Amino acid sequence: MIDLKKFEVWFITGSQHLYGEETLKLVAEHSQQIAKGMDASGKIPVRIVYKPIVKSTEEIYETLMAANSSENCIGIITWMHTFSPAKMWIRGLSILQKPMLHLHTQFNRDIPWSSIDMDFMNLNQSAHGDREFGFIVSRMRKNRKVVVGHWQDNDVLTQIDAWTRAAAGWHDWQGAKFARFGDNMRFVAVTEGDKVEAELKFGYAVNTYGVGDLVAVINVVSEEAIDALVTEYEATYTMDAALRKGGEKHSSVYEAARIEIGLRTFLENGGFKGFTDTFEDLHGMVQLPGIAAQRLMEAGYGFAGEGDWKTAALVRAFKVMGSGLKGGNAFMEDYTYHFDPDNNLVLGSHMLEIDSSLANGKIALEVHPLGIGGKADPARLVFNVAGGPALNASIIDMGNRFRLLINEVEAVEPQHELPKLPVARVLWKPYPDMKTGCAAWIYAGGAHHTAYSQNLTAEHLQDFADMAGLEFLRIGKDTRLDQFRNEIRWNEAAYK
Ligand code: MN
Repeated sequence: MIDLKKFEVWFITGSQHLYGEETLKLVAEHSQQIAKGMDASGKIPVRIVYKPIVKSTEEIYETLMAANSSENCIGIITWMHTFSPAKMWIRGLSILQKPMLHLHTQFNRDIPWSSIDMDFMNLNQSAHGDREFGFIVSRMRKNRKVVVGHWQDNDVLTQIDAWTRAAAGWHDWQGAKFARFGDNMRFVAVTEGDKVEAELKFGYAVNTYGVGDLVAVINVVSEEAIDALVTEYEATYTMDAALRKGGEKHSSVYEAARIEIGLRTFLENGGFKGFTDTFEDLHGMVQLPGIAAQRLMEAGYGFAGEGDWKTAALVRAFKVMGSGLKGGNAFMEDYTYHFDPDNNLVLGSHMLEIDSSLANGKIALEVHPLGIGGKADPARLVFNVAGGPALNASIIDMGNRFRLLINEVEAVEPQHELPKLPVARVLWKPYPDMKTGCAAWIYAGGAHHTAYSQNLTAEHLQDFADMAGLEFLRIGKDTRLDQFRNEIRWNEAAYK
């Protein structure tokens, strides 16, 4: 799985030489305690690393340059224990390329009423020191997250946790490679987009590979490897006797296993973090990859169907951000509605490829015909998904910018058996309600494809959008359609 503990966030405290050695020693000691305390809290998924306090233009510049070039540093946390005149920060901030969180905290939680004197005041100045710093960051129009409160406060650690997860997802995109087998599904609009702009803006590269290149890898998979994977399928999933070894429909499962190994090999050999395919271009492949896509997603790869590279990359980022949390992150599509006024529901699914990390209860491996694509019957995993809070997210290309749109939803347990539905499925209620949620999504131009998350929140995605310089629109419990439509209008001016 994706290991976040290899990543570091640097804790950088600003000060100045004005106060003398004694005070600066205390500033450094306190900073170390805070960094160590957060690192040992068990609430932050990455390492928090103390860096020597910075007291001059040169020290700030050198520290931030080092953060830029450190392979494992995914962002910095800044704090002004004392006053740190902010013109000293201009040179460093102007070259900073990593995400920044400004922690507006104080070493002491409480004012020591009976003993407070001017020495204490001299040391504990973040109430105004952080305002001076905040001004220059705003003056430089730099995105950052501001978190306010005592550094041991649970709510503060929760906000830092969300930001470090977003920073890990952002870091993972830098230099990432996504493989696109075939092109876009013919005539589809929303899955298209500017791949050059995406690479400039997001740091990941999407390039096309001929399906024949993939088929060449699939065709040389060894029989031993296929046999071992089929044995794993049989041990892991519910399967009819006809699909098991020796069964009359076993060849479908056998071919699906061959495709999974071939795809996995291709992705590993090329260092890819995700892929997309299309049922319209499967030359030389026996089936559309179903179980292969599902299991590769569960293993951490980003995926979306029909050439949708934006969603594939977003699914990958979600997997990094949600690593270690309960629940899954998956490729999803709004498929069918239940318009019962007393129980409105969206049924989310796809032709085949719903990530098995969402599965709740038994998973059945089944083989059924696919009405499109003209290939052999593909194997797929069929399962239900648990209820609970979740969200759908979509990145779309608006022509002059990318937009990240999310809708917070409440997933619900399936209330009916769906004996004839041969695909994994999720049921949810959009917030604030079905009509407002769906109308807002459509006004915002949100795609039918989404990344679906059971463990990320609007906070993670707001932080992620700020790091990426993405327009961020949220549809949630408090959304009103008239205000939301105005927000879209105003954003048109903001991004002009
Ligand atoms: Mn689709």
